[in-house]
Amino acid sequence: MKLHNTLSRKVEPFKTIKAGQTKLYTCGPTVYDDQTIGNLRTYVLYDTLSRALRAGGYTVDHVMNITDVGHLTSDADAGEDKLEKGAKRAGKTVWEVADHYITLFNGDLKKLNVIKPRIARATDFIDAQIVMVKILMDKGFGYQTEQAIYFDITKFPTYGELTGQNLSDKEVGARSEVITDKTKRNPQDFALWFFAVGRFAGHEMKWPSPWGEGFPGWHLECSAIIHETLGDPIDIHAGAVDLIGTHHTNEMAQTEAAYGNKLANYWVHGEHLLVDEKRMAKSLGNFYTLQDVMKKGYDPLALRLLYLQAHYRHQLNFTWEALDGAQAFLNRLRDWADLRFQPNLGHKKTAAAAYEEVLDKIKQSLANDLNTGQALVALSELANLSEQYGVDVNKLGALLPKVDELLGLDLAKRQAIDQPLKELIEEREQARRAKDWPKADELRARLGREGIELDDTPHGPVWSKKS
Ligand SMILES: [Zn+2]
Repeated sequence: MKLHNTLSRKVEPFKTIKAGQTKLYTCGPTVYDDQTIGNLRTYVLYDTLSRALRAGGYTVDHVMNITDVGHLTSDADAGEDKLEKGAKRAGKTVWEVADHYITLFNGDLKKLNVIKPRIARATDFIDAQIVMVKILMDKGFGYQTEQAIYFDITKFPTYGELTGQNLSDKEVGARSEVITDKTKRNPQDFALWFFAVGRFAGHEMKWPSPWGEGFPGWHLECSAIIHETLGDPIDIHAGAVDLIGTHHTNEMAQTEAAYGNKLANYWVHGEHLLVDEKRMAKSLGNFYTLQDVMKKGYDPLALRLLYLQAHYRHQLNFTWEALDGAQAFLNRLRDWADLRFQPNLGHKKTAAAAYEEVLDKIKQSLANDLNTGQALVALSELANLSEQYGVDVNKLGALLPKVDELLGLDLAKRQAIDQPLKELIEEREQARRAKDWPKADELRARLGREGIELDDTPHGPVWSKKS
């Protein structure tokens, strides 16, 4: 398997720490609002990565956090806590808001066929986060002001390694408006622990700590959860590209400073989804959720297929026309899986061999830095061949569950008629070819009573279910 590693900016051969086992950590949602189809693209990437690893023979221990505290409206410690803001907006408690959006998030993952990772809620790991702050303070990486405990980035010489920028570049890039605490030593120092004072005096979520009541900074939870659940170093850490500069850079600094371990050997980052070539934003009115997609009559798996058509390291421009195309592609694959093209007749040797090859082609494509587009081409080619030469019912039946394991498109489930009915269709086709019209008509009538309609095409009969 080969993966692009943000650390080296190269596609590298993938080697695990322990043979055959992968420790995978992915940054999850901040549960204060609906997930957009842009966010969901990232979770489908995580899922594709984990499916590709399994196909490559690895066991995968995949942990994903849920941020339910400490994520401010600016990633650089300015603004309000997103959860507290969401609670004010909805007139609910922060806990209610978190539960509400976690339920919606789980529903979205299910509809998109994302295999659920081990979930770790930030608020379930408060003790581990406090322990980590303690270690960082003891080792001299942390310092305390009236508002917060900060990580002093000048104490960590390789800070910013993941971005490929050096510190002075970042300093120039730091905006003055994000410096809300004048007693911070360096503009990029980031909060490990906020005190429930000043702008956070009314904070609903707070816990006691050796330094005073408060709540953890957003970056800390991922380092603490990784240390507790998977143990550092891990094999792969993944997230969206916008996390590289601040969140992931800070995670790396915390873990390496506290525990002396590298955080992750491979960093996988997914590109953004654009809508009509623009960044998605509520203010632009181009902010779509899975519910919006479904309300317009699209299948959630058409969205999954649209994501898979693009490479994860490329921006994907979402348009409704593009989703139409993905839905049509999905329908076509379903017709194929439903054996609507032609039942068990006249398949040629070439088509039979293609069944054997397609699984390898899909696996190889995924193993090549998750080239999902190429995997779909292989699948589509087989569907084309089947249309031309007929479907091998047994081979297709054996193949589809394996394709589903790799791509999560639920094609096997689409085999909507039972084997006895398939056999009847075949029997009737043989009667028709033998010009035994009474028998053919009788079998057609029997199928009709079972709710199956037949349409004779030049390629053979195509069945459909009566609606
Ligand atoms: Zn994270």
